Amino acid sequence: MYVKIRFMKSLQKLLMQESFSREEIVRLLSLEGEEKKELFLRSRTVKLTRVGNKVYFRGLIEFSNICAKDCLYCGIRSSNTKVVRYFATDDQILDAARFAFQNQYSSVVLQSGELSTPAFIDRVDNLLKKIKALSDGKLGITLSCGEQTENTYQRWLDSGAHRYLLRIETSNKSLYEKIHPKNEIHRFEKRLEALNSLRRCGYQVGSGMMIGLPFQTLEDMADDLLFLQKIDVDMVGMGPYIEHEDTPLIEYRHLLSPRAERFDLALKMIAVLRLMMPDINIAAATALQAIDPVGREKAVQIGANVIMPNLTPCEYREEYKLYENKPCLDEDAEACKSCLEARISMSGDEIGYGEWGDSRHFARRKNKKK
Ligand code: SAH
Ligand code: SF4
Repeated sequence: MYVKIRFMKSLQKLLMQESFSREEIVRLLSLEGEEKKELFLRSRTVKLTRVGNKVYFRGLIEFSNICAKDCLYCGIRSSNTKVVRYFATDDQILDAARFAFQNQYSSVVLQSGELSTPAFIDRVDNLLKKIKALSDGKLGITLSCGEQTENTYQRWLDSGAHRYLLRIETSNKSLYEKIHPKNEIHRFEKRLEALNSLRRCGYQVGSGMMIGLPFQTLEDMADDLLFLQKIDVDMVGMGPYIEHEDTPLIEYRHLLSPRAERFDLALKMIAVLRLMMPDINIAAATALQAIDPVGREKAVQIGANVIMPNLTPCEYREEYKLYENKPCLDEDAEACKSCLEARISMSGDEIGYGEWGDSRHFARRKNKKK
């Protein structure tokens, strides 16, 4: 006990820091009870003072589940023959974007499986131009279509995308290799290089990881947060790993901690990241809602400031199940919106309707360069 008092920094002191050692992060991620509440209170204060109480909506359009990759954790991996593959029509995608625009969401996220055929690249390019045209250039567009060449990223940026989400999944190379097939298209270095390309092109770059993977330790997760700080991301989306029956990783189900624990850990990761990177945008991942019906709102309370309401046409939602228990499979865009509105205002936050809500961190870096 004496040792603890003498050598361990007080939690109050630790919570006032913006940079942490790996050991300090592990300590924060291990907090429980009253101490955990203190962490959450501190991260909420940092959020309110640095990015305010506004939550920005990004309408999520999961426009295709066709994927050339075979990530061992993902329900829509190419080897899963149970999935019916789809590519939404241009009209369906544009209708969803129009809904976002008319409801003042101010941004959409176009997400899909990873393809890099010329036809796919052209199609996305064309959609970007059409979405820009239908909204008079006002709707912000985030892409999340996996690893592409720098040329493709540049082309899509020129056609109207300005943010890109590419999770590193885990910053531990050997863990990355355990959860991906061992071949050229699933190389860790390739993913890192793609993040560098996005930065060079001038995107607001988003990354993140899965939390609670088999074999993953608290030290790995601490390294994940340090990685995000090192690459100086503008936005983060990270959420609990949720097993999927029709994937190879299910073999390690027995190694997983209970879902409630993974959920709790994800909240602590968000809180600690908010302390480390106070002015970035942090999304409340949909996977949080798959474990707790108000999971995303809980994340907003403690540090997240972006939510991605699902605008995917209902007929496709069943086929875009990256993980089990994916929520809102039958809830259309309108129902989803009113449900979220009520829950966010209950927690004392406000929806930033009609504002892009770009990452303040990105703006700060850009100004520094001038
Ligand atoms: N194909 C693109 C975008 C779609 S997948 C890409 O991979 O970047 C989007 C994210 O879903 C992935 O980055 C991964 O972190 C997450 N995901 C996939 N399977 C998951 C699972 N079983 N549990 C939780 N998240 C998962
Ligand atoms: Fe494809 Fe992305 Fe799923 Fe990997 S995580 S299989 S790239 S959709």
